[in-house]
Amino acid sequence: MTQQADVVVVGGGQAGLAAGYHLRRLGVDFVILDGQSTPGGAWQHTWDSLRLFSPAAYSSLPGRLMPPQPGEVYPDAGHVVEYLADYEKRYALPIQRGVRVDGVHRDGTFLRVETDAGSWRARSVISATGTWARPFVPAVVGQELFAGRQLHTTGYRRPADFTGQRAAVVGGGNSGAQIAADLALAGIDTAWMTQRPPRFLGDDIDGRALFDVATARRHALEAGRTDTGGVASLGDIVAVPPVRAARNAGLLSAREMFTELTATGMRWPDGTWAAADAVIWCTGFRPALAHLTPLQLRGGRGHIATDGTRAIGEPRLHLLGYGDWTGPASATLIGVGRTARDAAQQIRILLR
Ligand code: FAD
Repeated sequence: MTQQADVVVVGGGQAGLAAGYHLRRLGVDFVILDGQSTPGGAWQHTWDSLRLFSPAAYSSLPGRLMPPQPGEVYPDAGHVVEYLADYEKRYALPIQRGVRVDGVHRDGTFLRVETDAGSWRARSVISATGTWARPFVPAVVGQELFAGRQLHTTGYRRPADFTGQRAAVVGGGNSGAQIAADLALAGIDTAWMTQRPPRFLGDDIDGRALFDVATARRHALEAGRTDTGGVASLGDIVAVPPVRAARNAGLLSAREMFTELTATGMRWPDGTWAAADAVIWCTGFRPALAHLTPLQLRGGRGHIATDGTRAIGEPRLHLLGYGDWTGPASATLIGVGRTARDAAQQIRILLR
């Protein structure tokens, strides 16, 4: 049996919830389909010590401030999961969990959303599936020969899993720095490799300042002024307290990236070799867009061309989260509200 809703939101993480909040306010009929059985999106799966890079009040979705976490300035992922679970309950968002969307198809004046629990007919679709489901690992010579453990950021949980091992952490972004710091501060023998020297943001800069910079960039672009470069122009790594502590203790000095893995370690172009028991690839993510393949919209870098959140090649489709290409700071807790509001407003006009 085919079910029907004016709007189907695919993904019930923070981006899907923010969309739900604004659709509800505008009186639009919608349903949110989420592949996981419990609330919280990707925050349910991060490593134990992860801390947000902004205080709670600066990590809030529309309508409800995130309460502070007792004893913590920067909340942990568990606190975010609790906040998101409370948020969807508070606004009674219509979420169907454990429903995986396999494909979105054009079907005359409708979009047909095929799931593992039947199909939906919708006049518009918001895709908010995040990136966690698509970890990216670069190809490196000898990767298949390495006899140790290889895992991505998505598979890292805690230093105790590496007791007595030599860990090699690859990646110069926030995940790489935080995981290298987590391991090193716990006394694990840790090497940290980055493609270019790590670029730490100033110690006084956290997510609040980053949001201001992203907003200034949006204003500049909207006014037709020169692109300020946004957050990326400031640096790559927010110096959250554990990162700062490890760096200040001299435990966080990066080496250049190795060019080859051997059975028991890694080798650099000058022939230097070092042993490793585990390689942790903190090398980023790609947008999880497989369900949109039937629409044939993918362009360069796997992105879908958008005007704001609206797909240029399919105006009934909006994209939220993923990265700055769907709107400045759209992939952050505090930033997604604005893009969700824009999408909901455009959809309401489309539905008239
Ligand atoms: P997700 O949280 O990934 O939610 C997507 C949901 O869609 C999931 O529940 C998923 O199961 C579901 N889904 C996916 N595909 C399908 C499908 N085909 N069918 C049905 N359901 C599907 N942001 C901040 O604001 N502050 C921070 O401090 C911060 N720290 C971060 C640290 C790390 C390590 C990472 C990776 C990101 C961080 N972010 C931070 C960025 C961002 O807030 C998170 O990535 C956030 O989880 C993105 O939310 P989302 O709703 O877009 O995606």
